[in-house]
Amino acid sequence: MHQSMLEQALTRLEDAARHLQLDQDVLEKLKYPRETTKTRLMIRMDDGSRKSFMAWRCRYDDTRGPTKGGIRFHPDSTMDEVETLAFWMTFKCAVMNLPYGGGKGAVQVDPHLLSKAELERLSRAYMQAFAQIIGPERDIPAPDVYTNAMIMGWMADEYSSIVGKVSPAVITGKPIALGGSLGRDDATARGGFYLLRHLEEQLGVGPGSTVAIQGFGNAGTHMARLLADVGYKIVAVSDSKGAIHARDGLDAAALIEAKRTGSVTKLADGGAVRVIDADALIGVECDLLVPAALEDLIHEGNADTVKARVVIELANGPVTPEADEILGRKGVIILPDILANAGGVTVSYFEWVQNRQGYYWSVGEIHERLKVSMESEGAAIWELARQRGISVRAAAYVHALGRLSDAIEAHGTQQFFTS
Ligand code: NAD
Repeated sequence: MHQSMLEQALTRLEDAARHLQLDQDVLEKLKYPRETTKTRLMIRMDDGSRKSFMAWRCRYDDTRGPTKGGIRFHPDSTMDEVETLAFWMTFKCAVMNLPYGGGKGAVQVDPHLLSKAELERLSRAYMQAFAQIIGPERDIPAPDVYTNAMIMGWMADEYSSIVGKVSPAVITGKPIALGGSLGRDDATARGGFYLLRHLEEQLGVGPGSTVAIQGFGNAGTHMARLLADVGYKIVAVSDSKGAIHARDGLDAAALIEAKRTGSVTKLADGGAVRVIDADALIGVECDLLVPAALEDLIHEGNADTVKARVVIELANGPVTPEADEILGRKGVIILPDILANAGGVTVSYFEWVQNRQGYYWSVGEIHERLKVSMESEGAAIWELARQRGISVRAAAYVHALGRLSDAIEAHGTQQFFTS
């Protein structure tokens, strides 16, 4: 029987629950999203016509604090995807011990087909539609795939007009000039980078190791730059237009420039830098594979081709449960999304704290605090995996579930009310 994305994601929860003495109430609470709101956003196009777009906001669980999670603009977005991403956010915030629950939002749209003015109207329409459920103490959005700081700025501005006061803490990932945090732009990649560097010895990778990066947006671009700066060799990169491969390595600055003006595939020269099939990137000879695009791109059909010894998931859900099993059998170590890409939400949390206290930190302070969090949560999860003989992913879920269940049980469980 075909499983929904959320049903697939819930198998990770069930796996983790086997390793803890959990009250049934905890699972009952975490099995379903608390609320998902769906609406159609109607905007005026530049030619005067009206067009409508499906949009969602899900608040999956708020036991540990206001819900937190990005807004995605993508033509393939669905409610199932939004709820699954919100489920992952619930666990990610618990992994990092942030005082948040999990949320997510999306608009089913290809933003590349909109003019800048249409994009602004759509972003403002999203905030108008969901302003009742969003708020600095209720639900705090952030950027995700195909949304950026400018869109967050428009949304923050719209929210401030609706509530009649400047309210920067309603959304994170804003432009610096509108209360954004220094260090938020590369936080997702940087968090993964700090985690990787901290575990290099255990993972058997380091400067000189070869890397393939799938997806070259916010997460992929910054990861390429950070890894190249310390001596990792980038041998393959892809974006939505295709992939390129160069055994002797690709220059990170040239890749970033090629992407800025179109696609990384522009670097192909018919010689040392070759265009390869987008899917072939997964099976390129390398030490480290960095999925930084979308969900489910490493699946049953291609997992067996993976040559990398380590996979660091900057994307959310890039490896299906079936592929996870295949990679596990091959001895590939996966640093899972809910830990590896948590740098983004961690610096979003720093942004929210700065907005609320009205006092702003230096980029050095942001980097240092992020490094401390990634290293301490990463080391605890690594140790848990080693002690219990389970995968790093299972350990990350167990680590998070322990914190979630403490919070849920603090409200009283069946045992409390019936004994
Ligand atoms: P982005 O929009 O900046 O970039 C997405 C990139 O993926 C683009 O380069 C696009 O060309 C590429 N792409 C799309 N389809 C592809 C395909 N089939 N094959 C190869 N490349 C493809 O998005 P982003 O913010 O970098 O997000 C990427 C992933 O990281 C997503 O899974 C997102 O949920 C996750 N993530 C992002 C953040 C953040 O702070 N931006 C935080 C946590 C997790």
